Amino acid sequence: MDTPVYQGSCFCGKVTYEVMGKPLISAYCHCTLCQRLHSSAFIHTVHFSETSFKWTCAESCESVTDTYPVAGKPWKMRYRCKECGATVASHNSKANNWSIRGAQLERDETGKIKAWDELKPTAHMFYGTRMLDINDDLGKWEGYENQSKKIS
Ligand SMILES: [Zn+2]
Ligand SMILES: [Zn+2]
Repeated sequence: MDTPVYQGSCFCGKVTYEVMGKPLISAYCHCTLCQRLHSSAFIHTVHFSETSFKWTCAESCESVTDTYPVAGKPWKMRYRCKECGATVASHNSKANNWSIRGAQLERDETGKIKAWDELKPTAHMFYGTRMLDINDDLGKWEGYENQSKKIS
């Protein structure tokens, strides 16, 4: 079977990328950095291995993205679109992986994210700093799923 490939893009569509195969992590993140960066109570973050991520901008992605380090974590680099300002991905050189935002993945004609069953979140992480309670069946973790204390 061929490895599935998923497309993602920023708000304006100038910055595009693709990711392949099974995510390392797919979770709703309630950490304070994600809250601040996205002005959102939580986001859907999806992690892929180093080799499963590829920039695919029509022009060179280097010319249409800005990079900036995450405060206090020099091994984490964030990428945002110069045109629309949207954060598109971050790279972690310690873990050798890429993190993308689920909400930026390609949609089907009904507006739903394609291949949702393969990509959907399996947990809520950094749930201790949540801005609202979530009443679903997914596990709630203090940090990463299966690597931290389970809250509920
Ligand atoms: Zn953009
Ligand atoms: Zn987060």
